[in-house]
Amino acid sequence: MNVRQTIESAFENVGYPGDVNIIKCSCPICRHIVDDFRGTTWRNQNLEALRKHQIAISLFTHEAFQYFLPAFMIHSLGAWGDTYLIPFLITKQFLPLRPAENAARQAHHAKRTALFSSPQRSSIIAYLREYAASGTAPVGDDIACAIANIENAPPAKSPQR
Ligand SMILES: [Zn+2]
Repeated sequence: MNVRQTIESAFENVGYPGDVNIIKCSCPICRHIVDDFRGTTWRNQNLEALRKHQIAISLFTHEAFQYFLPAFMIHSLGAWGDTYLIPFLITKQFLPLRPAENAARQAHHAKRTALFSSPQRSSIIAYLREYAASGTAPVGDDIACAIANIENAPPAKSPQR
């Protein structure tokens, strides 16, 4: 399987997060994003729409992040020069918060990585390795840190979610 197929297979059975569980914030910007993702699936997205709402990667609930992540990965894979911040924002989601952040925020953020099943983690790592090899990633050790963080996260409680 190539990386795209690995992603498609790993996320095949993830359930839609629910209309009211896409982004918890209801400010005008978030409402606009939710309007565009509500009732859609990760399979029927396109790069232009995903680019327009790339900030959603950081704003999604954990469940919506898990559900829509394959779309962001598939459409940015190999199109690195056209994806603006998509792969960068994805990498950030898998980095631990800075130690200065309070314990409650640390624990909440840690769940973002812990939610993913083992095959999903492997597909995300394969995606991040492609991103690192593309030569378009910012210089630094963020990608290596994100991969290590995924590898060291506790196993997911319910792999099919
Ligand atoms: Zn908002």
